[in-house]
Amino acid sequence: MRVKLDLHNHSCLSPCGDDELTPALLAVEAMEQGIQILALCDHNSTRNLPAFKEACELCSLMGLYGMEVSTAEDVHILTIFENIEDAMQFGAFIEYLLPPIKNNPRLFGNQLVVNLEGEVCETVEKLLISSSGISFSDVVEEALSRDALVIPAHIDRSANSVLSNLGFLPDLPYSALEAVRIPVSAETYGKTILTGSDAHHLLQVGKRACFLEMEDISFKALKKALMEGNVSYMEKTASS
Ligand SMILES: [Zn+2]
Ligand SMILES: [Zn+2]
Repeated sequence: MRVKLDLHNHSCLSPCGDDELTPALLAVEAMEQGIQILALCDHNSTRNLPAFKEACELCSLMGLYGMEVSTAEDVHILTIFENIEDAMQFGAFIEYLLPPIKNNPRLFGNQLVVNLEGEVCETVEKLLISSSGISFSDVVEEALSRDALVIPAHIDRSANSVLSNLGFLPDLPYSALEAVRIPVSAETYGKTILTGSDAHHLLQVGKRACFLEMEDISFKALKKALMEGNVSYMEKTASS
């Protein structure tokens, strides 16, 4: 079966994420766009995953529990878990490692933890877009050892990407890669390349989803499908 998925989205917890983009609105918008597997990956924090989980259940979506980790080299990597408990544990670990720099909401935006209804439960004080201080290869190894999907984000972007910041893609056992433009003009070791919306605003949700041929909608089938790499993209993604 051809499954529509979008594994890279933010919420109002990310300082750069719009305050209106609550986990519940993200899930509802994704459902309306026919997305069947959806991940929330805020920067270096997993605190909005509980509301996201509830929302995905209400919307009958397969929710996956992610985070976009900033490595010591300022490369962004998506780490995506099947279980919210594992994701929250890894999230607490990464958030603890962030330097004690306070967020300036006027400069960077608010960092809001919300419930299903979108009510603010907490404002995170530590700036979430700092570097975690862990190296690229250590983040990959640590997340894989916790049974996460590990996907270097927007590898072909000119900032915060493995190609821009390291100059090449190290040959490591990634679950897949995420790119902005298809095809990617770099050595990608035959890995499956996904696109993701990287939505920071409601209007961006689902705009860069992709499709994967899968046996069924499960984490196990997703892992298998990422190995097989039978992926297709939305029309606007392929570069002309
Ligand atoms: Zn990023
Ligand atoms: Zn992102």
